[in-house]
Amino acid sequence: MQSRAPRTESLPGMSTPTPMMVQYLALKAKAGECLLFYRMGDFFELFFDDARVAAATLDIALTSRGEHDGKPIPMCGVPVHSAEGYLARLIKAGHRVAIAEQTESPEQAKARGGSKALVARDIIRFVTAGTLTEDSLLDSWASNMLVALAPVGDTIGIAAADISTGHFELASVPTTALEAELARLAASEIVTHQGFTAAPFGAILRPREDFDSVGGEGALKAHFATDHFGLLSRAELAAAGGLIAYLAHVGQGKMPFLKLPVRREVQQFLLIDQATRDSLEITGANKGGRAGSLLAEVDRTITGAGARQLAADLAAPLMDRAAIEARLALVQWFHDAPLLRDAVRTALRQLPDIARALGRVVAGRGSPRDLGQIRDGLDGARMLRERLGAMADRPPLLEALLPTLDGHGTMVDLFTRALVASPPTEATQGGYIAEGYDAALDALRLAGRDGRQAIAQLEARYRASTGVSALKIRHNGVLGYFVEVPARNADALMAAGSGFTHRQTMAGAVRFNSPELHEEAIRITQAGGHALAAEAAHLEELISRALDRRDAIAASADALARIDVSAALAERAAEGNWCRPSFTDHPCLEIEGGRHPVVEAALAKSGDRFIANDCGLSPERRLWLVSGPNMGGKSTFLRQNALIVLLAQAGSYVPAAKARLGLVDRLFSRVGASDNLARGRSTFMVEMVETAAILAQATERSFVILDEVGRGTSTYDGLAIAWAVVEGIHETNKCRCLFATHYHELTRLADSLDAMSLHHVRAKEYKGDLVLLHELADGPADRSYGIAVAKLAGLPPQVIARAQTVLEKLEKGRAETGGLAAGLGDLPLFSAALNAAEAKVDALREKLAGLDIDTLSPRQALDLLYELKRAAGEE
Ligand code: ADP
Repeated sequence: MQSRAPRTESLPGMSTPTPMMVQYLALKAKAGECLLFYRMGDFFELFFDDARVAAATLDIALTSRGEHDGKPIPMCGVPVHSAEGYLARLIKAGHRVAIAEQTESPEQAKARGGSKALVARDIIRFVTAGTLTEDSLLDSWASNMLVALAPVGDTIGIAAADISTGHFELASVPTTALEAELARLAASEIVTHQGFTAAPFGAILRPREDFDSVGGEGALKAHFATDHFGLLSRAELAAAGGLIAYLAHVGQGKMPFLKLPVRREVQQFLLIDQATRDSLEITGANKGGRAGSLLAEVDRTITGAGARQLAADLAAPLMDRAAIEARLALVQWFHDAPLLRDAVRTALRQLPDIARALGRVVAGRGSPRDLGQIRDGLDGARMLRERLGAMADRPPLLEALLPTLDGHGTMVDLFTRALVASPPTEATQGGYIAEGYDAALDALRLAGRDGRQAIAQLEARYRASTGVSALKIRHNGVLGYFVEVPARNADALMAAGSGFTHRQTMAGAVRFNSPELHEEAIRITQAGGHALAAEAAHLEELISRALDRRDAIAASADALARIDVSAALAERAAEGNWCRPSFTDHPCLEIEGGRHPVVEAALAKSGDRFIANDCGLSPERRLWLVSGPNMGGKSTFLRQNALIVLLAQAGSYVPAAKARLGLVDRLFSRVGASDNLARGRSTFMVEMVETAAILAQATERSFVILDEVGRGTSTYDGLAIAWAVVEGIHETNKCRCLFATHYHELTRLADSLDAMSLHHVRAKEYKGDLVLLHELADGPADRSYGIAVAKLAGLPPQVIARAQTVLEKLEKGRAETGGLAAGLGDLPLFSAALNAAEAKVDALREKLAGLDIDTLSPRQALDLLYELKRAAGEE
């Protein structure tokens, strides 16, 4: 922490609160649960519990100042100039912060209320995870979503915005689909209204009246000054209302940038729930962070906006074949033209993040640098358009994007003339308006420069006249300009009539003023002040020009992002020898030479080769049971096919030699007994809850991968559950499914389930050692190889030998009794069992329907009731 400048305000130790404390407490009441950053001079101070929390989180000193109710007031503080870094850490730690600034200068306060008057302060902004726009607080490759939820009956309205780029979308979903939608959005912050009992954990609760559909419609119209929003549901309007009200609260009236809302039809997207996202490690790896995720392995984008778009694409693959094909056509175009692709990527590398620069400008925090970025980005966009527009055979998606890359010529020319080549982030020092843009400004600067020259001449003259060659004219923030000589030379200047007046004695140096210097200094300061004011006025004008064109600028940024994503996917495809997938109406999944991109990359690092495998699901063979030894590659095979589906529907090439599929509506991936204790439920419970969701939700168009279901419980239970789940999926869900299991017994199901087929990962024993081939073959595995895997893992030889003996005994027993699954072959099939149950219920129903109750005596009625009860009990 820094040492602090002396302060005029303090917290004296009195029991009645000081005026400052009164002001502080009022602001704190307004800040609610947020930490209050209270501006005092060059510091933001925190008091009471806020101070304790912040000091602990930020690891800064907790001090105390004054007293309140007879107790010392805990306090800590952060310097204003480095507040952003501290804010970032507090937000990351899950806090929200209210910023209370001085709303008048000390001079204004004095003029208003005398010398003791307290400077007025107010909360000017709330800083929350979902409403950040500062570059330093955001990841450039990830979007930052604020989500508002409005339940209306059985549907939930969702309004989601990334105010750093203006992205704004609305949707309404059934309550059951909320989880999957929230998983896709990966919200940084969720708001909903008080009293919503099913609010997600950690959601911020706002007043109910903010989430009102009529109010919401009004708020949309007022914000966008239009009423052309298309048809929005009541839930969507309510959510939009809640979102806009929250943004107005957070910005204290200053609204951030929002593009016109896009309405999302949830059915247009491949539904992926949170468990599947976690299991497939789509945008984040399970061990935390991005490394090791599909996104990290696929991402070759150049720009921050491109990276955000790719993350969004992978989080929400499409269900619309035409839209997918349109994306793929552009990827192919870049894929087939490597030179053009290189050129485009080189051009993109030069481009700044226009979307976020615009976000800051609209939020009222735009700097000269942001305008410079918008200028350079748009100029680059225009050149890119010229280049791409000259190419032949442009795919339709590119044709649609090209016009939005241009049209900013007048503004870009203006910014080029007005701004220096690389403008600073800080406007306060000036120097960002280019020379030649404004003659009056140039004159002021010249005056300043002349003044500085005059001072240099003055210095030379004083050196000559005093004979002190070490004399210097210097400048600092407190004294302004002054003459400085070493202490040993001070006498000459101290002498009366020397023309110098003493100002300050330092160790080793003495400082003086002179009338000529004073005059020059005033000239310089005035010219400088006027120049700064002139620059500020220009900045304001330039910002308003950018604001006028905000929607067009945002559209250019979006188009650049899409071009970046397409070229990047082409690059990735070329690098990994991926293929363009094709689609059919048939619910099939035909993959030749499929690979798992993340495992393949990991193997490549250690010089190992990935073995490609085929997959062939079709309506006749829609359930594959994959068995084989542990570590044989079952999970990898399952996941690679799920990832291929996901990539294909996101509009990407896929890691395979050939891929053809019917669109998938929902994708499910579950791993038996994954280590989920951290979530506070037993692993087996989690496994079953997740399996239940699949059985309830998978349709004939879904794709399910199930890995070792039933592993989390005892052998008998596990086998029984796995058995019933396979039957259920085959008979009821009828979806495409890959089911990996170590229960050898399940292979018997192939006899009764006609759309199920058996496969295994190959292994062989070579000179007593197990060799895992990672190769998929038809038919069941010949044995489980458990002991061979144990040997491979380095279990001691005596333990292996003992296990071998035990196994032989067990297998003998199995041969005699028919094994674990003895007798299972006679069980009626899942659907047959269901039908039988139905039939019995129906018999009862028939009987009841046939009754003429009015003709029965009380006695007969009672007898009948007994009879019905007995019949029901016989089921
Ligand atoms: P299982 O699910 O059968 O226990 P995994 O799929 O977890 O096996 O694979 C175990 C390891 O084998 C992986 O971490 C990977 O290193 C390797 N592996 C899996 N599939 C392949 C493959 N197709 N080619 C090469 N190595 C593979």
